[in-house]
Amino acid sequence: MTETITHDVLIIGSGIAGLRAAIEASRASHGKLSIGVVSKVHAMRSHSVCAQGGTGAVLHTDRGDSLEAHIFDTIKGSDYLADQDAVERLVSLAPSEIYQLEHWGMPWSRESDGRLAQRAFGGHGFPRATFAGDRVGFYEMQTLYDTCLRYSNIEFYHEWFVTGLLVDKEGFRGATAIELRTGDFYAFKAKAGIIATGGAGRLYSFATYSHSSTADGLAMAYRAGIPLKDMEFIQFHPTGLVPSGVLITEGARGDGGILVNKEGERFMKKYAPEKLELGPRDIVARAIAREIKEGHGFRDASGLEYVHLDLRHLGAEKIKERLSEIREVCIQLRGIDPIDQPIPVRYVCHFTMGGVHANIDGATPVKGLWAAGEAACISVNGANRLGTNSTATCLVWGGITGHSAAEYAMQHHSADFPQQTVTSEEKRIYDSIFRGAGTENPYDVKQELERTMDEHANVFRTGEGLGEALKRIRVLKHRAYQHVEDTAREFNTNLTNVLELQSMLEVAEIVLMGAHARTESRGAHFRLDFPKRDDQQWLKHTLAYLTPDGPKLDYCPVTITRYQPKERTY
Ligand SMILES: Cc1cc2nc3c(=O)[nH]c(=O)nc-3n(C[C@H](O)[C@H](O)[C@H](O)COP(=O)(O)OP(=O)(O)OC[C@H]3O[C@@H](n4cnc5c(N)ncnc54)[C@H](O)[C@@H]3O)c2cc1C
Repeated sequence: MTETITHDVLIIGSGIAGLRAAIEASRASHGKLSIGVVSKVHAMRSHSVCAQGGTGAVLHTDRGDSLEAHIFDTIKGSDYLADQDAVERLVSLAPSEIYQLEHWGMPWSRESDGRLAQRAFGGHGFPRATFAGDRVGFYEMQTLYDTCLRYSNIEFYHEWFVTGLLVDKEGFRGATAIELRTGDFYAFKAKAGIIATGGAGRLYSFATYSHSSTADGLAMAYRAGIPLKDMEFIQFHPTGLVPSGVLITEGARGDGGILVNKEGERFMKKYAPEKLELGPRDIVARAIAREIKEGHGFRDASGLEYVHLDLRHLGAEKIKERLSEIREVCIQLRGIDPIDQPIPVRYVCHFTMGGVHANIDGATPVKGLWAAGEAACISVNGANRLGTNSTATCLVWGGITGHSAAEYAMQHHSADFPQQTVTSEEKRIYDSIFRGAGTENPYDVKQELERTMDEHANVFRTGEGLGEALKRIRVLKHRAYQHVEDTAREFNTNLTNVLELQSMLEVAEIVLMGAHARTESRGAHFRLDFPKRDDQQWLKHTLAYLTPDGPKLDYCPVTITRYQPKERTY
């Protein structure tokens, strides 16, 4: 019989969203509930520690910023696909999250008079990226993790890999997981749950994401009957360092960095004459892709083409003070110092706008189960996220879902979970995969998956390419995850990589189907064969459901409150 661990609230994922949720669940229950936080990596190695440039919030209304302006910038940035009520909630609650973090010890960067400093970011009409040098994610995570440790009713399961959700017709019941240290299989039983497992960017080879961002939580939700929403919208950040793909924060352009092509031309004046390098990411990424396509890029020894991000005119002092991490990254990974040399950059996979279908409260269609952070599609990002709005979203909906999950758990009794699902999950993992047979190398399959996504579901897409990619992914789905070579139980990364690959293939198919069906261009989804936005047909969210015949697409309306869609110019 599988060993069972019981909590009142189970949080899957310990990035900014998961940690913020844990604190709020603990506070809302006045320490009465037991809260389990499960993470496949140590909490402080969660992808969120990579966030660099800032968290968006309106703080300086006396200087001209306003909630209204942040709301409008976000909706326009989303190419009008964001749910406007959700954006309004994000923007109204983000400032209090900044001050809350401050009270928990966050070392925000400051101006000389002690005010919190804010820098400019793409698509924002006012500098509202609240930052801590260029290590905002690391400091936010440190602050949240330290705060969690003060609550004795929050228990961490570091390096436990969740394999599936336990859901019955009444609602959420728990999850199954492997303790990586021993390889043992457990069932978690809980009254309420929160999926906070982050994005799916490792579907691509050139990505800013941590290697742990493999879509597990999205696939778990999908397998449990929850639709995934707007998955075709994958963000490509304009400035990934060549050839590693490590991010060079948009804060570098916010602080004055410029983009230059092989001819020495500051090309953004052709694409976003007013905002230039501070246009939204979809537009700047496409501009770089066009420059490269038209032969204005440089070529790296790796074969990757790129343009230059030039910071030299900012001066050594500013670079050292405000952009010290990216300077170190350039020196360590590329052997160049941005004080003296331009940085080679190109567009890079960076963010998943879609995710687990959730309403404005972060509630999924399964009772007792919420989703927060990048894993959730509450729809504040629509077709293109503005930089700094993700960490803000993680904080705001971490708080909202933590509170709601705690309230729910206090009002409900613990129910038995579906033992049959636990048994079949254990069989799937240990009988079919761990003791399975086959010759296929999962790492080759993963590389083929990445190549397919890089080639056909990138900045520019076509119906033909997406159709071809779908065929390839369906073949890969049948070839993959039959067995593992490594039969040790302790820290068997071969096994977890195979499980991750299964999730990635499932989610890739949904990305491709949504992109293939959407015969328009909106935000980050640009179809060369349908280059215009088509509000008549496509001002709607995509929902992908699992059926016995594979994924099935459906659609639901976008919530428009104050801003009717208009042409987007910058
Ligand atoms: C380099 C970089 C810089 C960025 N900079 C900024 C920025 O300046 N401002 C901004 O707003 N946004 C930024 N972003 C985006 C932002 O960092 C992320 O969207 C955000 O941190 C996601 O946080 P999260 O809590 O949703 O998930 P994550 O931090 O991705 O955490 C996911 C968690 O889920 C766990 N997990 C996943 N699968 C499983 C499983 N099977 N079992 C158990 N646990 C699991 C992981 O262990 C982890 O704890 C940046 C992104 C990148 C890549």
